Amino acid sequence: MNIVIFGPPGAGKGTQSSLIEKKYNLHQLSTGEILREEIKNNTILGNQISSIMSSGNLVSDEIVGDLIEKYVSNKDYKSRLIFDGYPRNLSQAKNLNKLLEKHDQKIDIVLKLSVKLETIKKRILERKILEKRDDDSEEIAIKRFQTYENNIKPVIDFYKQSNLLEVVDGEATISEISDEISGLIESI
Ligand code: AMP
Repeated sequence: MNIVIFGPPGAGKGTQSSLIEKKYNLHQLSTGEILREEIKNNTILGNQISSIMSSGNLVSDEIVGDLIEKYVSNKDYKSRLIFDGYPRNLSQAKNLNKLLEKHDQKIDIVLKLSVKLETIKKRILERKILEKRDDDSEEIAIKRFQTYENNIKPVIDFYKQSNLLEVVDGEATISEISDEISGLIESI
C-alpha cells in the first residue's frame, strides 16, 4: 500500500512514518530528509535550496516532483511508499496522483496529524536540541507553520473528495498515535 502522511512541522510525521515503515515493511520517503542530505553533502541542489529551507519556505514543486518520481518509478518500492512531507500543496497532490497512475499505483490512505501551534513550538524547540536543524528556531517554526496553513487547505479538500482522508489527533502520545494509525491501516 501507499500512504500519505502530513501535518504541520513538529506534528510527528517523521516519527510515525518510521514506526509504520518497520511494522508494515514499507519505505519512508521523507522529502525534507532527502533535501537536508543534499545540503549536508554540499551538492549543487543542496546549495540551491539551503537558504529557502532555512527560511521556512517551500522548495519548488519541480525539484520535489523530480525527487518523488525517482522513488515512484522504482520497482523495489512499488506500492510500498510512505509519503512523509509530500504533497504540501494542491499542485503537488495532483502531481502525485498523476505519477502514481503513470506507474500503475494509487494512494490507499491519507493521514493528517492535527496539532496546535503551542504544542508545535514546544516540540520544535525540544527537537532543536536533539537534531540541530537550521530551521528549528521559534521564529522559523512559526513561519513553517504559516507556510503549512497557507497551502494545505486545498490538499485536505482534495483528499476528502476522494474519501481517503483520516484525521489523527497528533496531541496524543507517540504510542497512542501509532496505535490509532495501525488501526486505520489495518481497517483498509
Ligand atoms: P520537513 O522535514 O518535512 O519538515 O521539511 C523541511 C523543509 O523541507 C520544508 O520546510 C521545506 O523547505 C522543504 N520541503 C520538504 N518537503 C517539501 C515539499 N513537498 N515541497 C516543498 N518543500 C518541501
